Amino acid sequence: MLVTLSEILRDANERHYAVGAFNCLSVENVMGAIEAAEQLSSPIIIQLAEVQFPEAPMELMAPLFLQAARRSSVPVCVHLDHGQSVETCRRAIQLGFTSVMFDGAALPFEDNVAVTREVTDMAKAAGVDVEAELGKVGDSGADTADVFTDVEESVRFVQATGIDALAIAIGNLHGHYVHTPQLNIRRLIEIHEANRLPLVLHGGSGTSVDDFKACIHHGICKINVATAIQRGIMQRITERLSQHPDEGYIPLKQVMISASREVVAEHIHLFESIDRCP
Ligand SMILES: [Zn+2]
Repeated sequence: MLVTLSEILRDANERHYAVGAFNCLSVENVMGAIEAAEQLSSPIIIQLAEVQFPEAPMELMAPLFLQAARRSSVPVCVHLDHGQSVETCRRAIQLGFTSVMFDGAALPFEDNVAVTREVTDMAKAAGVDVEAELGKVGDSGADTADVFTDVEESVRFVQATGIDALAIAIGNLHGHYVHTPQLNIRRLIEIHEANRLPLVLHGGSGTSVDDFKACIHHGICKINVATAIQRGIMQRITERLSQHPDEGYIPLKQVMISASREVVAEHIHLFESIDRCP
């Protein structure tokens, strides 16, 4: 069933697990992800980032995402990841996305507040939820070693914008890491205690199991996974072609579906969202 972000994260926030948010760029990707969630009775978020529009246009992907969500037996949120403008968020809302992220993390604090507020006002009028991001901003002259989201700023940001979920910077990075990052769990706990809303971890593809567990037990209830799912699909295709160089297109599509299903299933176990759908 199609649900909003706050609906899907409410139980996760109360019971200390995380819902995986998987960037899906193809029908095989979407089918495998939803199958994994259904087999494991887990809620799931499927999402598309604005930087992915050239390979997966939002107008083409939206009907696929929405129909997959509506016919699913588990709760599915259809989310815009890293929207770069109010206009992109508006288009996503018009297409039926149940949640949008506006990413103003690179903006000065007051500008990030102002634009996020504009997106929130627009989204709320349509019954759509909003995720925003607050990184480490400005503060020249302050402690330059502190590159993490500021606790006091997070409180002002959440109150001023009316968002439903906040992506934070605690040492996480996007993409595939060369070195496994060390996350600042102490800062996560402080931000979580100061704000009651669900917190989001971006860059979930290179994080250690211990850090994932610490995160989900201390307030992270949405974890974005993009790189790991793409890498998993690529690996399975490469393996299959090395064993069967003449493999046909249809069997390769099956490989893509099952690879997507396997990678998503691994993360559902890791994030402890298994068996959360009565
Ligand atoms: Zn991200």
